[in-house]
Amino acid sequence: MSSKTFTLKDEQETVKLGTMLAQLCSQHTTLYLYGDLGAGKTTFSRGFIRALGHQGNVKSPTYTLVEPYQLVNWQVYHFDLYRLADPEELEFMGIRDYFTDDAICLVEWPEKGYGLLPMSDLDIEIHYQGSHREASLKANNEYGCTLLSQLEL
Ligand code: ADP
Ligand code: MG
Repeated sequence: MSSKTFTLKDEQETVKLGTMLAQLCSQHTTLYLYGDLGAGKTTFSRGFIRALGHQGNVKSPTYTLVEPYQLVNWQVYHFDLYRLADPEELEFMGIRDYFTDDAICLVEWPEKGYGLLPMSDLDIEIHYQGSHREASLKANNEYGCTLLSQLEL
């Protein structure tokens, strides 16, 4: 299965999608998160990161570009590249060092870092649908397909 769509009728459902996907990750994972400002990328990330054991806030790393979470089984890196002026900045921050075997990387605004970011396993695009949201997920490799086929809300 290479794509799947979910209707998310409220914030809790966006959180739950993150929770469910986090619980399926079984190896190094890279997720790209697309969608307009306020679509729900950070809300999804909150559900995801908390499902892996983080108990505090998950705020968007808009100014720091990346927020690390050292969790029980995984090192999670939550990127928000909205304010990245030039993809070259990613070189300066040593971007490749983040994408290690024990890392799960969530990347908001990946289009700002095209060319220097590693490929994603799964792309998630969140659209406005009236007062609700719709999430379209697309797998880019076999691992991504496995995740998608197991994912249910
Ligand atoms: P982004 O990171 O994409 O800019 P945020 O997650 O910071 O977006 O904000 C999303 C906003 O939309 C929050 O106010 C959240 O409560 C709301 N929201 C999230 N998911 C849904 C949903 N499925 N339906 C309606 N509102 C949602
Ligand atoms: Mg955000």
